[in-house]
Parts: sequence; C-alpha cells; structure tokens
Amino acid sequence: MNKIFFTPGPSALYFTAEQHIKEAIKNDILSISHRSKQYIKIHEETVNALKQLLNLPDGYQIGFTSSATEIWERIAENLIGENSYHFVNGSFSEKFHQTAQSLGKNAILNEVEPGTNHDLSKVVIPDEVELIGLAQNETSTGAMLPVADIEELRSRNLDKLLAIDSVSSLPVTNYDFSKLDTLYFSVQKCFGLPAGLGVWIYNERCLEKARQLQANGVYHDTYNSLLSIDKFAQKHQTSCTPNVLNIYLLGKVVQDMLTKGLDQIRQETAYKSALIYNLFENHEKLTPFVKEKKFRSLTIGVAEVAGGTDKLMEALGAKGLQVGSGYSQFKGKQIRIANFPTHSKEQMELLVDTINGLDF
Ligand SMILES: *Cc1c(COP(=O)(O)O)cnc(C)c1O
Repeated sequence: MNKIFFTPGPSALYFTAEQHIKEAIKNDILSISHRSKQYIKIHEETVNALKQLLNLPDGYQIGFTSSATEIWERIAENLIGENSYHFVNGSFSEKFHQTAQSLGKNAILNEVEPGTNHDLSKVVIPDEVELIGLAQNETSTGAMLPVADIEELRSRNLDKLLAIDSVSSLPVTNYDFSKLDTLYFSVQKCFGLPAGLGVWIYNERCLEKARQLQANGVYHDTYNSLLSIDKFAQKHQTSCTPNVLNIYLLGKVVQDMLTKGLDQIRQETAYKSALIYNLFENHEKLTPFVKEKKFRSLTIGVAEVAGGTDKLMEALGAKGLQVGSGYSQFKGKQIRIANFPTHSKEQMELLVDTINGLDF
C-alpha cells in the first residue's frame, strides 16, 4: 500500500508526477546530453513556465543548483563581501547563518525562540550590512513571516540585498518579486517532486554585487558561482550535468499548476490549513507550537503532542498516513503536517478525522 506522506519534504509526489516520470523515461529524458538541443528546449520551457507561474518581472533570472543548502553557500560566497544579517527563528534559518559564518563572513545573528517570530518593523539593520537573510517559512517550527512585513523591511533597507528562503512555501506565498532581490526553493517541498534540485531566483542587483566582489578580488569563481550560473542560464544550460529529470518534471508540474490556477491552489491551501489549526486548537492532546496567528505557516502545521508522538505516529502509519516528526530537538515531542499543493482537501479531511478518532 502506498502511504500518503504529509511529511514536510520529501513529501507526497505531486499527483501528476508519476505520469510525467513515465513519459520522461519513454522519451529518453534520462539519457540525453545536457548540451543537446532537446535539453536546451526543456530547460527553457521550465524556466519560462516558472517565470509565468511566479509572475517574475523583467530582470529576474532563474538558475538551478543541487539543493537549497547549496544556495546558502553560493549566496555567502557571491553576494556577501564582509557583513550579513540573519533573522533566525529555527533550524533552517540558523543553518544559513552558520554557512555564512563558516565562509568567514561577519554574519550578524538576530535570533528568537523557536515557535515565535521576528517583529521585522522594529529592527534597525547596521549600515555596513550587505545582505539580509530570512526564512519566510521556517519549516522546523512552522513559523511564517507575513510578506507585507518583509516588504516593509526592504523598503527601509534599499541599499542592501534581501535573500529569502521560501523553500517550503513557494508557490503558495504570493510575492511581488520587484520588492525582493533573491529567493530560493527546493522541489521536494511544495512542488511535490523527488529531492535533488534547488532553484535560485536572482535579480540584476545580485549580478552587480557579484561583479563588484569579483573586481575587488574576493569572489570565488566556482562552477556554480552566480556569474557562472547566469552565464549558462542565458544559453538555457547549466555549468555541469544537472538533474535533468527534475528540471523536466518541474516544468511539467508547473504547467499543471498553471492549468489548475494558483488562486485555486492558494484557496485550497487556506482551507486545509484551517482544518489543521482547528484540529490543533480543539484536540485535548495537541497544542499549536506557533501561538501568534499571524505567524502561523500555511504550508506546515506544527503541534506539540502531550505524552509524546510515538503512539500517534505509529497508529497513523498503520493507516497509511505518514506525518512528519518534530525537527531536531523537538523529535518525539511534536508532529509536523505538510499542507502542500498535492495534498487534496479530501486527504486532509481524512487525516484530521483519523487523528480525531484515535486514542493516543
Ligand atoms: C528543506 C529546507 C531547506 C533545505 O533544502 P535542501 O533541498 O535539503 O537543501 C532549506 N530551508 C528550508 C526552510 C527548508 O524547508
């Protein structure tokens, strides 16, 4: 029996993915050269579909990496000369901070307790900071930053670059991309694809910064440096052999999302999210980890489970429903429920009804 994965990534495959994988094999996608005309067409189609889905303005480009984790390194190497500023509210935003620090940057840390979030409007960022990093959706805790707060932060810091981790919230979060500089995600979260592909969106200001660091002799010209990624992206290619299958699948799934309509996807996400938080608020053994409603993630629900998670997760597993465990220090104490575009309303109703009917 195939389980339904409500895990926050990898998660359930997008409901059309299996068909696209079969087509890919039938059409030799897994064997073609990444310098062939066939590949170049796939690359271009995927990028164009994504630009359309996300409504990317002119001057914003898309590059591919192996993961979002890789993009943290590339941002630190290519977009920060000396000073960066990091809003940390959980494990993923913390990892970006650590990456910048390991690569020798003066990475200023602004950290809040897990389960809470930053009041961005109160924060004054030092002048010398070149890049601000934040996780719009912190997958480890289920805390989400409102887009309006992020835009306000940028409007007060227009001389700095703003880098957004939207790994587990795109394409659900609705951004005006002209109000941010760089944003990245991985395909195994909301896009419902196998892991192993990072997507990096960047603007002209990012390229300028990279060129400036290069001129100053503090730029690492590695295979996936931003300037190398961009040089190949202009030819609809990548610097090395990429995850061709995933680039192909991403284009197909984005087409399917365009056909369904992002408005529809966002409405369903809001409905399913209400089901999740209703459950958390009304079940005597569950408590939502994020208390403040405006900071609750739409795509990841995190709850503390009184008495521990083992019994609940086991009983759900026996019924073919796999929820995520708490992240790191919260393992055994919390569950995380992914609410991604592939999860249907019926599946979420089934999960909530099942939890309500269980004795744990
Ligand atoms: C999953 C995740 C990452 C890391 O993605 P990889 O593809 O494993 O590199 C980074 N940030 C957030 C918020 C995530 O959820």
